[in-house]
Amino acid sequence: MAFEITASCIGCNACKLVCPQKAITVGPKQYSILPHRCNECVGHHADPQCASICPVETAIVNAEGRALNPPGSLTGLPDERKVVALSKRRARL
Ligand code: SF4
Ligand code: SF4
Repeated sequence: MAFEITASCIGCNACKLVCPQKAITVGPKQYSILPHRCNECVGHHADPQCASICPVETAIVNAEGRALNPPGSLTGLPDERKVVALSKRRARL
């Protein structure tokens, strides 16, 4: 039920300030979410506050490893891997 912070995190501290469960800590290498504290904001907010405020795509993932802010969701730019795959496919035509 807890989320995780990935290596994409830039350490802006925004998520730590808004987490209602005080579940976000600063480790020696990067920010992380304490799984026993994170309840995905249930009972506090309709949306996970860390993901709502995070400015970095793919910095926070759910238990399945899926980014809460997937590539392109904040920037509007297409996923680079999809662009490369599409251009390769077109080159073969
Ligand atoms: S989902 Fe909510 S409770 Fe969990 S770390 Fe993010 S802000 Fe905190
Ligand atoms: S808001 Fe996003 S980028 Fe900023 S510290 Fe939290 S996870 Fe890292």
